[in-house]
Amino acid sequence: MIYFDAAATTPVRPEVLAALAPLYTTDFGNPSSTHSAGETAARALDYARRTAAEVLGCRPGDIVFTSGGTEADNLAVKGLALAAPQGRHIVSSAVEHPAVLESLAYLARHHGFRITLLPVDSDGRVDPAEAAAALTHETTLCTVMTANNEVGTVQPVGEIAQACRDRGIPFHTDAVQAAGWLPLSVEGTGIDAMSISGHKLGAPKGCGLLYVRGVLPLEPLLHGGGQERGRRSGTENVAGAVAVATALALADRERDAVAERARGLRDYLIGAVLDQVPGAVLTGHRTERLPGHASFCFPGTSGEAVLLEAERAGVLCSSGSACAAGSDEPSPVLTAMGVDRATAQSAVRLTFGPSVRENEITMAARALVTAVRRVRELQPNTPS
Ligand code: PLP
Repeated sequence: MIYFDAAATTPVRPEVLAALAPLYTTDFGNPSSTHSAGETAARALDYARRTAAEVLGCRPGDIVFTSGGTEADNLAVKGLALAAPQGRHIVSSAVEHPAVLESLAYLARHHGFRITLLPVDSDGRVDPAEAAAALTHETTLCTVMTANNEVGTVQPVGEIAQACRDRGIPFHTDAVQAAGWLPLSVEGTGIDAMSISGHKLGAPKGCGLLYVRGVLPLEPLLHGGGQERGRRSGTENVAGAVAVATALALADRERDAVAERARGLRDYLIGAVLDQVPGAVLTGHRTERLPGHASFCFPGTSGEAVLLEAERAGVLCSSGSACAAGSDEPSPVLTAMGVDRATAQSAVRLTFGPSVRENEITMAARALVTAVRRVRELQPNTPS
């Protein structure tokens, strides 16, 4: 069985496991303790903070370790919006992850925020001019993801961030899927906050971080002992912090070579599927997409049926988003891109990590072609 669902989660890298293991056994102290065991843990946490800050081109004090991407998104969106001295308007996009969209819905429901969701084109891209035009003197925050989880499209966040910086509006980006594939340094950009999740990068589930520029006021979500400079109370997950920072640094070091190779393999995979499956449609941007990401619709099939057949043919993949799996509702991302309901329900996503082998790419292409053919044979009356 080969695993083609790296956008859902990844295995823990051996280097990461080696770095975090002592923090569960010998070096298990609480970083707030004043004795030597506490000091060892505090040093490990400090190392993690400096390591992550180096990759992100920010100050160590700008890093808040979290339980993952969802918490980082919640903290950025709610924390920045609620702490803003004035204004009750947020600009975002229609294709954000639910961690952002549901945080926005919460702010609208309970705090009276007005939300503008920017539309996207048929490739899933936000128009930066449209984003700039949506910013008003009432805007407290703009949040647009770096790259989309379902269709892999990379957004023009640099331009949008600059437009926000010019107007003094904080800009947050969800870089959960971009991490490991795209440069993440915020230096010289207008990016004020960025969410990262460990488990998409070779660290365990349940760890992540939020970069948030230190001068910005941030309302905490968790109140308690004042850890993370009062921005996220709770005894720190020291092993998780070391894991996400180590994974981030490794991925950053390898990024250029890994991304170039993956782009070639991705393009081969996309070409093979489009050539061999009649009526197959690529979803997301053809070139401005994540290097390890190929997503399709196969009109006339059910995506769920294709996934089952793909698994029988030896490949684990997904319909687009782990969060929406099992839902009958068509993907809001595909709907926002103008894909009709029936076509949206035929979505299949193949995502791979840096260590993918070339023969796995050919096997995945072959399995998907076989799977769609089998589903169409089983549903002879549906159009192909
Ligand atoms: N944002 C994006 C774009 C994602 O793809 C995901 C997870 O799939 C998240 C946020 C949530 O991250 P986590 O699973 O670490 O909570």
